[in-house]
Amino acid sequence: MAYLKYQADYLFTGTEILNNNAVLITDKKGIVETITTASEAGADIEQLQGLLTPGFINCHCHLELSHMKGLIPKHTGLVDFILHILQLRHSSEAHILEAISNAEAAMKANGIVAVGDISNNALTLSQKLKGNLQYHNFIEVSGFSPGIAQVRFNTALAVYRAFKTHFTTSTVMVPHAPYSVSPQLFQLIDGVSTQHISSIHNQETKDENAFFLAGEGLFNKLYQSIGSDIASFFKPSKQNSLQTVIPQIQSPKKLLLVHDTFTSQADIYFLQQQTQDYVFCLCVNANQYIENLLPPINLFRQNNCSIVLGTDSLASNCQLSIVSEIQTIAKHFTEIPMVELLSWATINGAKALNMDSKLGSFSRGKQPGIVLIDSINHNGLITSNSKAKVILPA
Ligand SMILES: [Zn+2]
Repeated sequence: MAYLKYQADYLFTGTEILNNNAVLITDKKGIVETITTASEAGADIEQLQGLLTPGFINCHCHLELSHMKGLIPKHTGLVDFILHILQLRHSSEAHILEAISNAEAAMKANGIVAVGDISNNALTLSQKLKGNLQYHNFIEVSGFSPGIAQVRFNTALAVYRAFKTHFTTSTVMVPHAPYSVSPQLFQLIDGVSTQHISSIHNQETKDENAFFLAGEGLFNKLYQSIGSDIASFFKPSKQNSLQTVIPQIQSPKKLLLVHDTFTSQADIYFLQQQTQDYVFCLCVNANQYIENLLPPINLFRQNNCSIVLGTDSLASNCQLSIVSEIQTIAKHFTEIPMVELLSWATINGAKALNMDSKLGSFSRGKQPGIVLIDSINHNGLITSNSKAKVILPA
């Protein structure tokens, strides 16, 4: 049997960074055989400049919003961003499908091998069935008025079933966000969330906590703008948004908390008392785009939280690239070791989406894809010039 052998300046295994004496050996399909030394690897070693890593896992995207690239101004704040999304969501189906296809191709070229993708409709299904990337489908529901809970649930159920026919073990129904799902709708979703993992947008703006603590802030403007009389059914819980809704999401064993820009130490203590596993999904480029903010990443590190990375959609990001997300974090948090950032981008993401039997590390028997990051500096760090190049797809 013929093998493929790769030697680069650095080799990130999924858990550690090895120096240029390490050689990755796979079969022709990229299934990992072993990592050994150059002297033991034999002949025909392909030499590469840069850092070799397993393919990236993008834990949060909305592929169906790809046609909104560049349409929404930066730094509007979340509520105005949402109002723009509601206005711009609709376009011709041909235009939307073309944007979906292009965005997926860009993700693949950027070294992404698997995506946790939010779907409010079935427009991405045909592209996903081509098998270019691996997907975990989060079928998202929203509806803050209790009166529309059943209608919204029924609509989502049709989308959920369409995906589940093809992605039997990787399709779940998920709530959009604390401020957009009623207790009645949470209950309906929880009834079908018997799968391992769920997801929710969490504390993306400071107004989200203010809304639940005291009924204050810009979410009142959001509901006024869409003509919803929330005074008739909404009462502030006097707790942070996270602590308000977690008791209503009990069926999934694991919950991806996406954004977490205003998550506090008290919220983390609260989560530590629950029986579920929590994964903090950072989408820093989207935070910068929408609110010009960053999440408290060191707070999550100090508390040994599980961290993964996502790109969010092209509505709030100029590109769908995990390397770009790493570059943004590395620029603002220079103290975070590169090995930690790379593990968030690979093995942690694979574990979060239950794909770690195949993806996320160069462990024997896995087929994680092989990606080269170029323009690494002499300290082994990704630079602002670094880009990903696919050596072998997953
Ligand atoms: Zn999102």
